[in-house]
Amino acid sequence: AKGDGGNRLQFYEPRFHEQIHRKMDIESRLRKAIERKEFLLHFQPILNGRDRIITGLECLIRWQSPELGRVSPAEFIPIAEETGLIHSIGEWVLLEACRQNKRWQNEGLPKIPIAVNLSTQQFNDGKIIERIENILNETGLAAEYLVIEITESMTMNKHHALTLLRNLKKLGVSIAIDDFGTGYSSLSYLSELPIDKLKIDQSFVKGMDLHNVNASIVNTIITMAENLNLQVIAEGVETEEECRLLLQYGCMTMQGYMFGHPMESGAVSELLALEQLV
Ligand code: C2E
Ligand code: CA
Ligand code: CA
Ligand code: CA
Repeated sequence: AKGDGGNRLQFYEPRFHEQIHRKMDIESRLRKAIERKEFLLHFQPILNGRDRIITGLECLIRWQSPELGRVSPAEFIPIAEETGLIHSIGEWVLLEACRQNKRWQNEGLPKIPIAVNLSTQQFNDGKIIERIENILNETGLAAEYLVIEITESMTMNKHHALTLLRNLKKLGVSIAIDDFGTGYSSLSYLSELPIDKLKIDQSFVKGMDLHNVNASIVNTIITMAENLNLQVIAEGVETEEECRLLLQYGCMTMQGYMFGHPMESGAVSELLALEQLV
């Protein structure tokens, strides 16, 4: 490419078109993906790092497109947000997550909460509380077994965040702040909101044992969260060393490849059944 001569526009144009094309491709296939049953939920265990008992699950969407193959949620969720398709996709995720959790409970497996990621557009949807309430009623899942994960940036409109989160709490649903530390909110700001859990972003957890700065950030978040009575969850735990340090700092609840990748519902059933025998 370096020898192409001086015309930068000509150099960049094809790539630019490729990106636009990919986006349009995703958007048009995304429109039909729900009815064509191309989405699937995976579930990642959240557990106690000491005794390794599962205390929760996070629900993560997967999309297998016949035309595009497997597309990462990191790529298609932002496009779904831009196009408004996130409303129907998000509704499908909530319904399926609650339905599946109720199914496990009906099978007599240990009852644990399931966490669902809410997108900004859903958070700003005036009917979201009603929708969640309807889904709980429809599936028969008790609200205490649903956790809604939101990010710091969604809470920036404090009036809206307070109203919405209070209404979620009224329903009996728990609230977690996802990717904590990557936004600009302080813990003192969050302490004014009715939040239950804080998930430390994986970028701080990764290599904690090798990078002092990350370790002290994680340690500080854990200490402050304790003082505010928030449950802390460390995300992206991949090694024994990270796990050991987290326990030392007082963070018991963890999630990461070290304990389990996101998996299909059948694999979750097996894990939960094992736990029952212990
Ligand atoms: P997230 O909510 O922060 O989810 C955690 C991501 O980290 C997941 O990626 C998970 O597979 C990955 N992960 C878990 N443990 C480890 C680990 O030990 N190491 C590493 N390197 N990664 C780990 P995934 O499933 O690709 O999802 C990416 C993002 O897409 C999610 O980040 C979330 O923001 C979004 N997303 C996924 N499912 C949904 C959904 O149903 N609704 C909405 N609105 N967003 C979703
Ligand atoms: Ca999440
Ligand atoms: Ca996260
Ligand atoms: Ca994330």
